[in-house]
Amino acid sequence: MKLRTRIHVFTTLLMFLILAGLSIGIYFLFEKMMYERQADQLLARGEDLTAELNHIAPTNANMVIRAYMPPDGALLIVGADGRVIREVESDKRLRGFPAEPDGSGPYTVSDVDGMPAVTVAMPFISAGGEVAELRITQLADDIAGQLATLRLILIGLTAAAMIPVIVSSVALGRIVTRPINVLTGTMRENREKGAYEKIDEGRGKDELHEMALAYNDMMDQLGRNYEKQERFVSDASHELKTPITVIESYSRLLKRRGFDDRNIANEAVDAILSQAIRMKDLTAQLLDLARSDQSAAYHFKQADIRGIAEETVSPMRQAYGRDFGIEGPDKLIADTDPDKLRQLLFILLDNARKYSDGAVRLTMEEKEDRVELSVADHGPGIPEADLPHLFDRFYRVDSDRNRKTGGTGLGLALAKEIAEGLGAELSVESVVGVGTVFRIVFPSNRQS
Ligand code: ADP
Repeated sequence: MKLRTRIHVFTTLLMFLILAGLSIGIYFLFEKMMYERQADQLLARGEDLTAELNHIAPTNANMVIRAYMPPDGALLIVGADGRVIREVESDKRLRGFPAEPDGSGPYTVSDVDGMPAVTVAMPFISAGGEVAELRITQLADDIAGQLATLRLILIGLTAAAMIPVIVSSVALGRIVTRPINVLTGTMRENREKGAYEKIDEGRGKDELHEMALAYNDMMDQLGRNYEKQERFVSDASHELKTPITVIESYSRLLKRRGFDDRNIANEAVDAILSQAIRMKDLTAQLLDLARSDQSAAYHFKQADIRGIAEETVSPMRQAYGRDFGIEGPDKLIADTDPDKLRQLLFILLDNARKYSDGAVRLTMEEKEDRVELSVADHGPGIPEADLPHLFDRFYRVDSDRNRKTGGTGLGLALAKEIAEGLGAELSVESVVGVGTVFRIVFPSNRQS
């Protein structure tokens, strides 16, 4: 069954049961009140009659009984042995009516030719000292008429109340299922066209709006990941083409003449090795770039930035014997992903090392609610015209300088993506002939 039909049937049925239950309750309450009132009147009449019968001569009894006879009723006096002592009626429909109380309560309602009749019974002692029972019955035509009218009114009211219930349940079904249908349609279309279409987020702040937001976020992420994959495939095939061609041609040269000429063999092996290393670096960085935007891969926690800086710098000091200095407080706690921050600092420090000869400074500072880290060198600097493209993939400033240092032109592109993932701003200032400073600024507390 469709969700819309289910909502429709469920709300309609529930409302119908509530209304019908209420109506039935009202009906039976009203019916009980009416019969009770009639029974009370009969009991009062009976009590007056038994009081009279106690002190009048039995010969006058018939006259008194007639005086107390209810309209459309019957009066019966039954002896202790069950024998009918006297029987009088004002309505012929009650002639011979047994008027037996069923003992379930102070009064009994029975059916006389399709008409309800109320009977009450009470014991009394006659003037002759005999124990007897007085039974008074009265037909309840007016109660039957009123109950029939009440039935009609309640059925009419229930039916009338069901109209808005049905209309609102249809509307409710539509409100709930419309966004789901839109979502299903968009998902189907996206699958067929291989697209990442989003849905209208609406203006309300309800769960459906939340669902649309979550779906659109998911589409954004899927779209970005798809673009990254596409880029990875095209970058990898484009960038790997050159080293593969070089390796192929040197391998052929080696095969043809390398076994006779040691110089050629050395040249070929060197070229093949350097291209293989380049391919390894390239694929590693391309893979890092392809993975860098997966927000699930970032694990933030309170960490000591000073400790992270020391851990990154000390192996570099050892490996290159260079002057890597750290300036700033001994302890600086902030929210970050330590592994990613280490990776980011490594790219910047390694570039400073590659592209300068002197000392490299890593400075850290806490300014209000932000942490600022900068990596400064006194190398050749970067021309102003290159600065806007510095974070582009495969962008390299000076081919001469680059040939010496190796590298892929992907380091800063990766650094930028990691900085974004960390919620940090990455910027560069450089003066040719003076040096370069890369700056990372991020909030010390992610919640604030
Ligand atoms: P790679 O270092 O692999 O070439 P990057 O993306 O890390 O790639 O750097 C891009 C270019 O920016 C480098 O080729 C280099 O010319 C320039 N560059 C990066 N850092 C510095 C620096 N500290 N000083 C001077 N030039 C730099």
